[in-house]
Amino acid sequence: AEELLRKSEKLAVVGELAAGVAHEIRNPLTSIKGFIHLLKEESDERKHYFDIMESELERINLIVDEFLVLGKPQVMNFRQKDVSTLLKDVMTLLDTQAILNNVSLVSTFEPDLPLIRCDENQLKQVFINILKNAIEAMGTGGDIHIHAKKTENGVVIQFVDQGTGISPERLTRLGEPFYSTKEKGTGLGLMVSFKIIESHHGEINIKSELNKGTTVELFFPKA
Ligand code: ADP
Ligand code: MG
Repeated sequence: AEELLRKSEKLAVVGELAAGVAHEIRNPLTSIKGFIHLLKEESDERKHYFDIMESELERINLIVDEFLVLGKPQVMNFRQKDVSTLLKDVMTLLDTQAILNNVSLVSTFEPDLPLIRCDENQLKQVFINILKNAIEAMGTGGDIHIHAKKTENGVVIQFVDQGTGISPERLTRLGEPFYSTKEKGTGLGLMVSFKIIESHHGEINIKSELNKGTTVELFFPKA
């Protein structure tokens, strides 16, 4: 409990700062990106440098985007939704990435799930973050199962992968800002997701076994 408290305090401070800074960084980034694009067209011999600059800018953009989600000032647009619709949308969105990684997304949704009160885009962001991690963890491909079931007071969603798994030491560090084991990772996806889930009065539970796989379980109360 103490660990959780420490994490959420850290989250609040980091969130406020991050959103402010991210917002300020965005406009200059867009203008730099535009000019690099123009310069690239004019110079064949330097194209390689500009390509690197573009991909590095892309990385900054990615981090800034994830940071923007952190701050509360984002207008939350709460509506009653069926999570299976949102999950289907997200699965379509990630289809190409899944195929490229030799991964099949297999879903079983119980019919007549209770509606939940949520911000559609933010909740989709959570599903995307979790599913991307699952896909990225499956080196040689396989199935990712997505279940949605009703419970007495809400909906439970499970994402079950057959990936690398997470060791117990690493499991306690998930959600810490910048904690990533990936070369190109930002270590912000889960932190952002925790924050969104919290703002929806939801719960997240991650179980994992090394070399077997990981199950991420979400709960959201019914509307
Ligand atoms: P990133 O994906 O940019 O590394 P995240 O916050 O999304 O940042 O995830 C943090 C870390 O948690 C990952 O680098 C990875 O080590 C671990 N992780 C998250 N989900 C999974 C999963 N499904 N299987 C294995 N490891 C995972
Ligand atoms: Mg991630």
